[in-house]
Amino acid sequence: MAVDYQPPQCLSRPIEVPSKLLMGAGPSNAAENVLKAGSLPLLGHLHTEFTQIMDDVKQGIQYAFQTTNTLTLAISGTGHAGMEAALCNLIERNDVVLIGINGIWGERAADMANRQGADVQTVTKVAGENFSLADIEAALLQHKPAVLFLAQGESSTGVVQPIEGFGALCTKHNCLLLVDTVASLGGEPFYMDRWQVDVVYTGSQKVLGAPPGTAPISFGPRAVAKIAGRKTPISSFYFDMNWLGNYWGCDSQPRKYHHTAPISSIYALREALALLANEGLENSWNRHRQSRDRLISGLAKLNLKPLASEPANRLTCITAIQVPDGVDWKSVTTHAMSMRVEIAGGLGPTAGRIWRVGLMGQNATDERVDRVLEVLAESIKSATAPVTVMGRL
Ligand code: PMP
Repeated sequence: MAVDYQPPQCLSRPIEVPSKLLMGAGPSNAAENVLKAGSLPLLGHLHTEFTQIMDDVKQGIQYAFQTTNTLTLAISGTGHAGMEAALCNLIERNDVVLIGINGIWGERAADMANRQGADVQTVTKVAGENFSLADIEAALLQHKPAVLFLAQGESSTGVVQPIEGFGALCTKHNCLLLVDTVASLGGEPFYMDRWQVDVVYTGSQKVLGAPPGTAPISFGPRAVAKIAGRKTPISSFYFDMNWLGNYWGCDSQPRKYHHTAPISSIYALREALALLANEGLENSWNRHRQSRDRLISGLAKLNLKPLASEPANRLTCITAIQVPDGVDWKSVTTHAMSMRVEIAGGLGPTAGRIWRVGLMGQNATDERVDRVLEVLAESIKSATAPVTVMGRL
């Protein structure tokens, strides 16, 4: 039988993928062995060799989050899937959920919590600032939430949110603490158990340096109790932690099919976690801090200022840089891209006002910091060169 529509011409050409230095807000460049792991032969999602790899991944995630929580696994999906999974498991209709908003990620979490039927309350700071314990305690007293959301790495503003002390505060106020570490895990110190964080998630494609598509997540005992005590079913079947926990071997029951895990992405995540384990978290945290410091001193020489005026508020993994007056931010990123170097623009409230330079995973090295500084300087020069009738001088 003849088809109604012909095969697309474009698919008769070989795929073309240029090699670029990904110094934006993510994904970052993955290591060769991580990419190679993704091309190993496929296995079935319940084959013992694969479930062994899942177990390795769980241990790697526990190490990265610094936790012994049993309910620790990788969601099949990107960072947003981690966010949605965390929220839909914790929230029941009309639960009060308090969201810290100091950039786009709080806004997204508030949107998702609204869709879950939560009574969403917010506590806000301007772009470039973060929350103190006193800010949050006042909001906890005012709103009496069941869940508090904070982003440790606000990638739209390049700001780090301190987490130490916030878990104890939430426990005191009978609230669960949910932390987004998509843009910070591996680059900023994070101690899930020590800091009493109830739920945390991250993404695979930033500091971990794996392809996008998996989102490590962990639920602590208070979060597990909240799920067990739900009066209504979890709104999402795909993100139901009861099912996922079973498939990932987190309970003592035989594993059942829930969905087909993205096999190749899990291989790649395993190798990325192995790189982190071999380097050691402290070394990785230090390397990211040193790279950020080198970038900040290089920026000062170019008369460029970070958005976060307070040095202690600056995230190691992503630096937000103020676009100087008279410079067209877009011409700069376009010029950088013509040199095969990605520099990101702003996002949400910071769109048009900043550039964002990511120093994540394989890209947090002196050599790559120097390269991005060189490209940024040249791109700004090119974007601000006087224009003649014939074009730029
Ligand atoms: N949270 C933060 C802090 C992020 O930086 C990002 C990605 N930029 C996300 C969540 C969403 O991750 P993804 O794009 O992988 O869905």
